[in-house]
Amino acid sequence: MNSIKIIIAGPRGRMGTEAVNLVTNTEHFELTAVIDNKYNGMMLSDVQGFQAIHNVPIYTDIVQCLQEVKADVLIDLTTPEVGMFHARNALEHDVRPVVGTTGFSKEDLQELERICHERNLGCIIAPNFAIGAVLMMKFSQMAAKYFHDVEIIEMHHDGKLDAPSGTSVKTAEMIAAVREPKKQGHPNEKETIAGARGADFDGMRIHSVRLPGLIAHQQVMFGSDGQTITIRHDSYNRSSFMSGVKVAVEEVMKHNAFVYGLENILD
Ligand code: NAP
Repeated sequence: MNSIKIIIAGPRGRMGTEAVNLVTNTEHFELTAVIDNKYNGMMLSDVQGFQAIHNVPIYTDIVQCLQEVKADVLIDLTTPEVGMFHARNALEHDVRPVVGTTGFSKEDLQELERICHERNLGCIIAPNFAIGAVLMMKFSQMAAKYFHDVEIIEMHHDGKLDAPSGTSVKTAEMIAAVREPKKQGHPNEKETIAGARGADFDGMRIHSVRLPGLIAHQQVMFGSDGQTITIRHDSYNRSSFMSGVKVAVEEVMKHNAFVYGLENILD
């Protein structure tokens, strides 16, 4: 099998560091370059925390990187604005994006879908790479057929930039696809402190908790007469996301379309 040539954007980040290790430790993956916002022209192996096996060039300019380095896939683990810029440029250079960066708007997703279609290229946007989180979303969608009242409580470390989390929005979208529309809570309820009832997504509520010590956790709570059901997933470290990154890289090479959510490529 030919190895899949990969560029990683955000290699010094919490997720990026794990992804660098995943790619360099996977036999049929080959790291060809990284994109960072500093250390242009240096080798990644010369940056603190990396080793001799990470001897690939660092670029701060994605266009220059894509022109000079041969790659099949770009893994992006940065910030929403940067991630969108990277994904768009990758597709324009025939490189398939696998994006874990969260916080993309609906318009961003539509634009990437359009470019994929025009260029007949694959792209995977995965708000959550943890297989357990994908199952939590699927189980929640199953429950939503029977339980129409639901509140999503997502809990993350306090270094997270976007709220609500990409996973909670994706969960709400999957629930909305099967749930009878319903505005929840008392029709006359009033917030005495703004935000007390959380974000409103199609009548259901999303609550975002940010605390040091947390990694990525989500509880989807359904209620009906005399009963509740709670579906919960916890990521205790960032290596929990890497099996999903591996699957996404392998799958994006087989798809010539836009995929939003890992659940669409798992059996
Ligand atoms: P992080 O530790 O803050 O890492 C982000 C990295 O991106 C930093 O090293 C940052 O460098 C770098 N960066 C910023 N601008 C850049 C640019 N122009 N070019 C290249 N690199 C740039 O964040 P994280 O926890 O790893 O998370 C990264 C993203 O993944 C977030 O959007 C997060 O929500 C998402 N995430 C997704 C999943 C999933 O399963 N899909 C799981 C966890 C997290 P500086 O520090 O120098 O700014």
